[in-house]
Parts: sequence; C-alpha cells; structure tokens
Amino acid sequence: MTTVLDHPYEEVLENASSKVKEGWTIFQKWTCQKCRSRCTAATPNHFTPLVVCTDCGTITDVRATGCNFMASILIGGEDV
Ligand SMILES: [Zn+2]
Repeated sequence: MTTVLDHPYEEVLENASSKVKEGWTIFQKWTCQKCRSRCTAATPNHFTPLVVCTDCGTITDVRATGCNFMASILIGGEDV
C-alpha cells in the first residue's frame, strides 16, 4: 500500500485546530496499530494522542503512528 493516510500528530493537530477556528467540525481519524482498522473518533473537535480502536479496543499512540482527520462545515445551516 503506497497511499499515505496518516501524518505526524503535531502537524495534524495544528491543521485541525485552524479548521475548527474557521468553523469546521473535525473528527480525528487513525489506523489501528493492531487490526489495521480505519477508525474515526466519535467526539467532534477532540484530538488525543492515545486513541482506542472502535473495532478491537487496542490503544494506538498516534504520536508514533500518525493520524488524520475528516472535516465538515455547515453553510447556511445545511450539511454539505
Ligand atoms: Zn483495532
């Protein structure tokens, strides 16, 4: 697999924080280090270095493995 899905934690956190300030809602995403499941955090606008896999419950330290986020924004009250 050559696609890079995850980036250094500090970089992603900075990027996500500026998105939140612009009014976006963000959800942290990462790849479980054990089962390789692609996980998305349930809590919006929340970033943490230790994340728990939604499939197997394994804790991944994304400061070591990297992470990413998805973002959505409300425009005129409509989800886009
Ligand atoms: Zn897992």
